[in-house]
Amino acid sequence: MAKNILVTGGAGYIGSHTVLQLLTGGYRTVVVDNLENSSAVALQRVKELAGQFGNNLSFHQVDLRDKAALKTIFTETKFDAVIHFAGLKAVGESVQKPLLYFNNNLIGTITLLEVMADHGCKNLVFSSSATVYGWPKEVPCTEEFPLSAANPYGRTKLFIEEICRDIHCSDSEWKIILLRYFNPVGAHPSGQIGEDPRGIPNNLMPFVQQVAVGRRPALTVFGNDYSTKDGTGVRDYIHVVDLADGHIAALCKLSDSKIGCEVYNLGTGKGTSVLEMVAAFEEASGKKIPLVMAGRRPGDAEIVYASTEKAEHELKWKAKYGIEEMCRDQWNWASKNPYGYGSPETTK
Ligand code: NAD
Ligand code: UDP
Repeated sequence: MAKNILVTGGAGYIGSHTVLQLLTGGYRTVVVDNLENSSAVALQRVKELAGQFGNNLSFHQVDLRDKAALKTIFTETKFDAVIHFAGLKAVGESVQKPLLYFNNNLIGTITLLEVMADHGCKNLVFSSSATVYGWPKEVPCTEEFPLSAANPYGRTKLFIEEICRDIHCSDSEWKIILLRYFNPVGAHPSGQIGEDPRGIPNNLMPFVQQVAVGRRPALTVFGNDYSTKDGTGVRDYIHVVDLADGHIAALCKLSDSKIGCEVYNLGTGKGTSVLEMVAAFEEASGKKIPLVMAGRRPGDAEIVYASTEKAEHELKWKAKYGIEEMCRDQWNWASKNPYGYGSPETTK
């Protein structure tokens, strides 16, 4: 019997890629998303890309904080596990509007966990983030590193991790995997789904992509005086398809073992600077990315990359793609969809 998986935030960037991998892997998938930061077009395309498996996808436009609606969904289907992506993720906005972030991310998650418990579904994979390592004192970051939060967004990740540890302590039937993502980039190789942020992108690669298609004049490089190879910040970029596969590995781990509440990094273990990433994108796209050098962005860490050993050993998962493939697929998506899922009229 095919397993039933509930995916919250499944219309979003990482969610849509994961839903596609779930469908083609033979899972029945129900998506809950309020479309606050995504488009239903992404799910239509996922359905098409999944071919014969597309019929195993259903979608509910529901806010996670709507407990009654969530209960109805859990009453209609008995879920084997939940993958929980839904949340707001813009660091700067979280500093301006902390209550919005605590309300959406924390209340959304608590409501979900309550409804799961009431319906006897106690298997969860949660989207955490490398942001919980704060400014790491050394690299690579291992899962045992001390945790901290530099902003309200990061604090929601930290709090939710702690909530998960607490509910597992209180009830050992819960099996929970916390996945700490490093920097997801790229797109599905078809070029049909990818990242489509609303407004001015906060993250490096969506900004680079918008410069390449002519929507923005230049990339502002935040800091070129770090103690790194070329002075710019270093991060662990991971192809979104590799990341999506990491979720399938986590689901397998949940059903195969007596896991309690475990945390895994999902990264490549390799650090790449801003200038190296821009050079790789220029190579892949044949476009010149004009640069404006600026000061450091407040709160930014210097060098962050993952230790990948735990995920490799215990999840039997390892990232396959390098920055060339990430940039190739990002450009393929951007050149086919310069305005994402929208149009010049609908996109600012
Ligand atoms: P995204 O914004 O593309 O996807 C999140 C989805 O959740 C969106 O479709 C949004 O509409 C939905 N959503 C938000 N609040 C909701 C609510 N209350 N009810 C229902 N749906 C809601 O973001 P993403 O990049 O795909 O990230 C997915 C998850 O991974 C998030 O939790 C994010 O914090 C985490 N994460 C992302 C990154 C990254 O760089 N993209 C890095 C680390 C962790
Ligand atoms: N960055 C930049 N210009 C931008 C966006 C990001 O120079 O417009 C840099 C940023 O300072 C960091 C790296 O790119 O060194 C990755 O930033 P991103 O926001 O994508 O990820 P995070 O800092 O959250 O890991």
